[in-house]
Amino acid sequence: MSSLSLVGNTREGIPVVLLKEGTSDTRGRDALRNNIEAAKIIASMLKSVLGPRGMDKMLVDSTGNVTITNDGATILKEMDVQHPAAKMMVEIAKAVDDEVGDGTTSSVIIAGALLEKAEELIKQGIHPTIIVDGYRKAMRQSVDIMNKIAEDVKVDDHVALKNVARTSMESKIVSVDSDVLSDLAVKAILAVVEKPGHIETQKDNYFMPVDLDNVKVQKKPGGAMRDSSIIEGIIVDKEIAHPGMPRVIKDAKILLINSPLEIEKTEFEAKIMIDRPEQMKMFLEEESTMIRTMVEKIARTGANIIICQKGIDDLALGYMAKANISALKRVKESDIAALEKATGARAVTNLDDLSPKDLGFAQLVEERKVETDKWVFVEKCKDPKAVSILIRGGSERVVDEAERSMHDALMVVKDVVEKPAVVAGGGSPETYVAQKLRAWATSVSGREHYAILAFADALESIPIALAENAGMDVIDTLAAIRSRQLSENNPRIGVDVKELKIADMSKIHIIEPLRVKEQVLKSATETAAMLLRIDDILSASRTGAGQ
Ligand code: ADP
Ligand code: MG
Repeated sequence: MSSLSLVGNTREGIPVVLLKEGTSDTRGRDALRNNIEAAKIIASMLKSVLGPRGMDKMLVDSTGNVTITNDGATILKEMDVQHPAAKMMVEIAKAVDDEVGDGTTSSVIIAGALLEKAEELIKQGIHPTIIVDGYRKAMRQSVDIMNKIAEDVKVDDHVALKNVARTSMESKIVSVDSDVLSDLAVKAILAVVEKPGHIETQKDNYFMPVDLDNVKVQKKPGGAMRDSSIIEGIIVDKEIAHPGMPRVIKDAKILLINSPLEIEKTEFEAKIMIDRPEQMKMFLEEESTMIRTMVEKIARTGANIIICQKGIDDLALGYMAKANISALKRVKESDIAALEKATGARAVTNLDDLSPKDLGFAQLVEERKVETDKWVFVEKCKDPKAVSILIRGGSERVVDEAERSMHDALMVVKDVVEKPAVVAGGGSPETYVAQKLRAWATSVSGREHYAILAFADALESIPIALAENAGMDVIDTLAAIRSRQLSENNPRIGVDVKELKIADMSKIHIIEPLRVKEQVLKSATETAAMLLRIDDILSASRTGAGQ
């Protein structure tokens, strides 16, 4: 790598500095080799976490905080990756996670394998552009094959949805409790899906959107995972602000306020000149009158509970308690937003234009004890399409990991509801697609042919990693899967990593959303393609370097 400023010449021969001084330039094969190396390192790190028999990683951040996880996306997020190509690998994981919520580790492993195979092809003299074209063709063909072997699911088929959720949790630390958690995930998604009920099962013809913003996940260490529950409504992690206020509010009329319920303090330092004791009294009385007027204004709307994003003056709390109005203060903005949606309230900023129309409704608002805290549960709201999952568990680490796993579970159930088709897991679809691709490759002439074969090999890195992590013989296992898939004409034969044998994965209920598998193929291919097309890395110097 050289550190220089690149100088070009205009037609008239005037030199033009193209790059800032100190910019380093890595070109051609070096750039590519360098990128591939970095991407491979990331992929190889993640290989060992894939699947239920994958190992966990312990991540320690700069402040000494420890996270123990098996979640590919989390591992990459916490790693402080510097190399630009490695960063791109981290990006795919993030993209896949955002898009479908699962399959992050797989996409990184496949992208790494695609690059590794590409490296061999490049050594044999095949140009990266040809490889990219071949990979893209192979990807489209793979998506087609996946669609052909996918099976339709009825969107209200709780058992199938639960299996999908459970499969996503198989590889997590909390998998022993996957039964409880997957049940909650399915209930939550079905509660918020638009138009549940009569459903057609044609794969692409319709769309039942699920807005995950309607599902809030709260966690609280303590108790056992099976004490986790689903609440039809919203949990606010604040207690009712005054001891004299009602703790249970039936037929709640809810007023949401964005601004502080306090007498405004001036921004400048203000002095009040008081020279007689009566003046002090007057001043205090004036303040108290203003606060009373404020509370009266609120009471006139008919509200019986005030939920405020900012602080509330103690005096105001006292008046509210007297008026039998309950209040919550310093509630998170996101909670206010969720409450607006769920209760139909419109959060107000200016008390001068309060109207009963701003109120929201819920059948029950109740303060309950959760461990040592008191939280407020807003239930049976006007819009029932808002649910909360309360995760309990032995320790903070456990509920943290359960929360991450719940995210995956909710996402995969959403995936299937939105695109109701599944494929079997355990490396079965990847092996099957690889076999079909190899057969199809014979119809593709020229050098792309080799890229397609390489793509097929790269897909098999999934069953290979699963078998390897389970301590199974990789070569024997893969050979056995291939031959049984063909002889039984059954694309669902994969690695049963629990029983250490090969099996029909759908018979043991290991199924995954078609959408996840499609996304994994697309993202892995695109990332590999992007890296393969780079032949020049221009990097600006870090501050101070290059002088
Ligand atoms: P990813 O981030 O790619 O989802 P995971 O660590 O969650 O990575 O592993 C997912 C892989 O594990 C999938 O290929 C899935 O089919 C497979 N898998 C899950 N449960 C089992 C099981 N019981 N037996 C074999 N494979 C399984
Ligand atoms: Mg997973």
